[in-house]
Amino acid sequence: MSDKTDPQRMEKIVSLCKRRGFIFQSSEIYGGLNGCWDYGPLGVELKNNLKQYWWRVMVRERDDVVGMDGSILTHRAVLRASGHEDTFSDPMVDCRTCKARLRADQLPEKSGVKQCPNCGGKDLTEARPFDLMFSTQMGASADPESIAYLRPETAQSIFVQFKNVLDTSRKKLPFGIAQIGKAFRNEINPRNFTFRSREFEQMELEYFCRPEQGMELLEYWKEERVKFYENIGIPREKLHVLTVPDADRAFYSKGTYDIEYDFPFGMQELEGVAYRTDYDLKQHQEASGKPLDYFDEETKQRFIPHVVEPSAGVDRTVLALLCNAYDEETVTDEKGKSETRIVLRFHPRMAPIKVGVFPLLKNNEQLVAKAREIQATLRPHMNVFYDETGAIGRRYRRQDEAGTPFGITVDFETLGEKDATLLDTVTLRHRDSMKQERIKISELLTVLLPQVQ
Ligand code: ATP
Repeated sequence: MSDKTDPQRMEKIVSLCKRRGFIFQSSEIYGGLNGCWDYGPLGVELKNNLKQYWWRVMVRERDDVVGMDGSILTHRAVLRASGHEDTFSDPMVDCRTCKARLRADQLPEKSGVKQCPNCGGKDLTEARPFDLMFSTQMGASADPESIAYLRPETAQSIFVQFKNVLDTSRKKLPFGIAQIGKAFRNEINPRNFTFRSREFEQMELEYFCRPEQGMELLEYWKEERVKFYENIGIPREKLHVLTVPDADRAFYSKGTYDIEYDFPFGMQELEGVAYRTDYDLKQHQEASGKPLDYFDEETKQRFIPHVVEPSAGVDRTVLALLCNAYDEETVTDEKGKSETRIVLRFHPRMAPIKVGVFPLLKNNEQLVAKAREIQATLRPHMNVFYDETGAIGRRYRRQDEAGTPFGITVDFETLGEKDATLLDTVTLRHRDSMKQERIKISELLTVLLPQVQ
């Protein structure tokens, strides 16, 4: 973890998220549900843009990857075979002074002595394993066999359905199965806003291959995934690729990278890229007694494929996008008065709203009609926000805070009143530079669409 933290910046981001409707605490009016978050109107758009872009580049634009969507409720046998039932736990300690429950591997140390981050106390219990899985009861009977789990990761349903997907998609190695969906972990200490939650979403790819291809594909996917983050607007210098040391890797993994981002609360993991060998398929084949192997028609050999897994967090990436986009700058208005402009500098591809459409005056029928017409033209292609209330400067500022990259203003020149050559042109305002240009309405879609896709 990096020492460079900026709690003040984080507070501002959390407050903007609530103020503008990105993220709210779950069940807030009842005091909140710890570790759970609700995404508001802007948050859900941002999250959907991220998921859709991941799906596009990881599945739709590739011949060698197919998708699936597994159930959240998971058969106990699946998580017994995967090893989760026995080993998916974090070490927990209690602070005897303030009664806080803490993760033993995340305790701060002072002069070599571990202490409670809450009260500074040093009287801590021994560490004991704390089960991270949420279990529930299926159906009416209460016997232990009716226990089901909320999945702690999306990966297991991919392994369990490997044969069905292979047989129906008729893919040849190497090929991947991708999934985006909810996962649940009863984290001992949810913290850092949405970074560590109890309910979250993952975007996972299981990329199956021949044993001899594993190490090379691990490098390939690490590079691809770093490029992905750059393509959603996270600069390379804020990303860090950590080679997970042997001692910290799962015993079956032959190599793991963590892709980390420089959050205001330190350098933290966004995604893990792991070469998991044939561990998972082997475990499920053994436990279920059903073959999960692959028949190579060229060599006439049967074997269990190996797998490389890039596993990313939706919520953590959304948080990284927000942290990365947040900016404050001092600007001077026409009257020479200076003020602070808060702006979210999202990559247009990720921005929740792509364009704001503003008639200069709301009580001028012609301006309003033109603006509504533009809204209707752009709407099938992107998320458009129509706003007719308040001074135009205020409307721009509101969109700056929402991270909207473009603003279109319909004014009297649009109507051709001052200069006939300007008929059917509008002002296009750019969020980052605040520069304005005159553009024909008929050209708007061609100019905007490639930038926001
Ligand atoms: P950590 O060490 O931070 O607990 P992990 O190494 O256990 O994470 P994985 O099991 O590798 O995480 O899960 C893959 C991805 O799922 C993580 O990189 C992260 O983006 C996301 N993720 C895991 N746990 C959480 C959580 N509690 N809240 C939000 N996202 C999570």
